Amino acid sequence: MTQILIKGGHVAAGDGGTELPETDVLIDDGVITSVAPGVNGAPGATVIDAAGMIVMPGLVDSHRHVWQAPLRGVGADMTLPDYLATVLGPILTGYTPQDAGLATLLGAAEALDAGITTVFDWSNTTTTEAHTDAVRDAFAAAGIRAVVGLVHPDHEAYARRVQRGPATVTAGFAIAGMEYGDHDDTVRSVRLARDMGVTVTMHAGGPAVRALYDVGLLGPHVNLVHLNGMTADDAKMLAETGAGVTVTPVVEGTMGHGASAYGRLWDAGARAGLGTDVVVNAPVDLFEPMRDTLRTERLRTATMLPAGAILPAATVDSARAIGLDHIIGTVEVGKRADLILLDGLPAPSAAAAVANGSRADVHTVIVEGRIVKRDGRLVDLDLAALRRASRALAQRVLR
Ligand SMILES: [Zn+2]
Repeated sequence: MTQILIKGGHVAAGDGGTELPETDVLIDDGVITSVAPGVNGAPGATVIDAAGMIVMPGLVDSHRHVWQAPLRGVGADMTLPDYLATVLGPILTGYTPQDAGLATLLGAAEALDAGITTVFDWSNTTTTEAHTDAVRDAFAAAGIRAVVGLVHPDHEAYARRVQRGPATVTAGFAIAGMEYGDHDDTVRSVRLARDMGVTVTMHAGGPAVRALYDVGLLGPHVNLVHLNGMTADDAKMLAETGAGVTVTPVVEGTMGHGASAYGRLWDAGARAGLGTDVVVNAPVDLFEPMRDTLRTERLRTATMLPAGAILPAATVDSARAIGLDHIIGTVEVGKRADLILLDGLPAPSAAAAVANGSRADVHTVIVEGRIVKRDGRLVDLDLAALRRASRALAQRVLR
């Protein structure tokens, strides 16, 4: 049995309220088995001294195009049409399977370094079997929990390919949806996802909500991304059906999608998760989307909404948006041990993590009970070397 004991940290459970000062967290074989003061580990347990640190759930990125990692910052001034015509045009089609693997490994490494332990990858490169295998193997090698959002229309066969990897790498569907693709194709894919028990995701401004509702397919198996044009009626349908929603406020603001749906969903009784979306024009971490949401909500409501209230958006609400909240998203006995430790904040709390946390504060990252970042450094992944290796790829596809 592999045991890890995290001693004396400030546990911010990620559920929007629970904070436990000077508390121990025990992990047995990848599962959280105790959250309490004064816990003793077995002889041989790995002990991490977390005094003065925040112990919180790993961040869950419920919408990210991981393959764009080598292109960080190249689209700072791109409009959405520019992005569609270039990044999703010749740049995407220029990726070989090997490129997809390297880019996914780099993106996973950057995510882990920033405390993101789970990512729903909108994996645009999964157009061939070889690309798909490379993406799956890169996530497996990185040690991150990932849902590979498959774009190939043969969903079942491609999902089986992903399932050849470790249990931490699972399949989802990433489809054009009603607003960008065919209505009947969308209905078929969403029904299949529901029947297979996987998450199907689509970009949507708003009309897809009613379209899915009207055919009885709006529900927790769906992850609708953006919804800046959502109406009050749409928000009610989303709340009523428990459908998953992801907002990516940094990219939505940067590219002019419109105001975030986060607060309007909140008012309707629904909870959105947070995504980073694309690193071509947004940071790799989820701290900035959390802070963006905090600022927007304080302005929108003209209240001092507690900063800690935003933490669930990047933890359990994101996990729910991709159908994983039963296993991750909170520091809770029985959940998989996906945890991070933040160091350097003198009054540790969920609020401090939201208001001031950054990638530089991420001291330790644990996925499925395995330590992937320790003392501020990735254990098995060399981020600088991956960036160097990706430079030629970026130069080639940008030409
Ligand atoms: Zn997207």
